[in-house]
Amino acid sequence: MSDQHTSAGRSRKALIIGGGVAGPVAAMALQRAGIDSVIYEAYSSGADGAGTFLTFASNGLDALRAIDAEHLVPAEGFPTPRMSFQSGTGKHLGEVPNGGTLPDSAVSHTLKRANLYRALRDEAIRRGVRVEYGKRLLDAETTPDGGVTTRFEDGTEATGDLLIGADGIHSRTRRIIDPKASEARYIPVLNIGGYARNVRIPAEPGTFRMVFGKRAFFGYAVHPSGEVWWFANPPRAGEPDRAELAAMTTEQWRELLIGLFDGDDTPATEIIRATPGELAGWATYDLPSVPTWHRGSMIVIGDAAHATAPSSGQGASMAIEDAIVLARCLRDFPNTPQAFAAYERLRRERVERIVAAGARTSNSKAAGPIARILRDLMMPVFLKRAASGGDRSMAWMHDYRIDWDEKVA
Ligand SMILES: Cc1cc2nc3c(=O)[nH]c(=O)nc-3n(C[C@H](O)[C@H](O)[C@H](O)COP(=O)(O)OP(=O)(O)OC[C@H]3O[C@@H](n4cnc5c(N)ncnc54)[C@H](O)[C@@H]3O)c2cc1C
Repeated sequence: MSDQHTSAGRSRKALIIGGGVAGPVAAMALQRAGIDSVIYEAYSSGADGAGTFLTFASNGLDALRAIDAEHLVPAEGFPTPRMSFQSGTGKHLGEVPNGGTLPDSAVSHTLKRANLYRALRDEAIRRGVRVEYGKRLLDAETTPDGGVTTRFEDGTEATGDLLIGADGIHSRTRRIIDPKASEARYIPVLNIGGYARNVRIPAEPGTFRMVFGKRAFFGYAVHPSGEVWWFANPPRAGEPDRAELAAMTTEQWRELLIGLFDGDDTPATEIIRATPGELAGWATYDLPSVPTWHRGSMIVIGDAAHATAPSSGQGASMAIEDAIVLARCLRDFPNTPQAFAAYERLRRERVERIVAAGARTSNSKAAGPIARILRDLMMPVFLKRAASGGDRSMAWMHDYRIDWDEKVA
């Protein structure tokens, strides 16, 4: 392992902005590389977007093995190794594996976002990482000795040897690194979801049912407890105002969704009616290409550098892969800019390919009538090939492996 001490003889220290997915994983991986870090999270502890869930792909599970944290995801979620597709008319279009299967049979899992955040953060804290809450990054600058000073909204400052922006799709760090950096791109579907109770659905746990409804996309999976976890993507051509979405009441959302799925041959309306609690929707974004990921001792990783549409099912896994690959580079190149350059060489092509794949899938959810007919004709052919194992076209996404011990060239 390289010497991780500065010329002053102390350990290198990283300031990590964001305690979502990439932030805590980066802290744990850096610790393993002999680099100290502190996580600065804008929100207070526990404010973790409780309403949503995500599917965690097998490559993300495998990446967590580099820091011995792969047990955290199965402990919080349930296996969802299959996806089946149908059209709004009830036509079965096919069934495919939902992500890959690791050599030890581990498969993708579905879990609540808040639980993933909490599990990763708690594990980082358990391993001795310091997390400071209520620290919203406002500004940062490099210091003459090559380090970094940050300023937070509460008026406090922090200094370190490098800064890792793991602050999500609307990253402040991205803009500090490059004031001309791209903004997130609106994807023309909304997102909303929930957890339905006491509804009888003829579906076994483990299969995500995806429905290309006549007017909107609907997905659901039965949790082993019997609860039905669902999401919907109402198409929406123009980007909605944040205030407009925030002003919609649960009853307005319910009415909108029931209107969209009424007449489709799916249990969507029954599931939506059986969902207690509040419903709230949000707009969907991705970030196709951010030309500048790093400047001096500052870098962005995870969604801050390359957010993908939710439909790729890869955002959290990519954030984890990023964090671990970056820690390997910093371990093997004590010169931070060299480490950042090596990191970008290892990551850029893969993540941009995934973002492009996610955008294609999202567009198919908002297909017009002619595209819908073509999709319903072609999809069974593709899905049949994929299901038979003859189609390895997505292997590049799921078979990605990180060897922690291998030295970065
Ligand atoms: C509706 C939806 C569904 C999704 N479904 C999936 C899925 O099925 N599978 C999948 O893999 N991914 C999915 N994703 C994507 C996934 O959630 C993200 O890719 C992943 O969370 C990225 O992790 P991150 O750590 O880079 O960013 P985030 O998880 O966004 O974390 C960023 C953190 O930084 C903090 N922060 C932000 N600004 C500042 C600041 N200025 N100062 C300090 N802290 C700050 C935030 O509070 C947050 O805690 C989905 C996303 C959405 C929106």
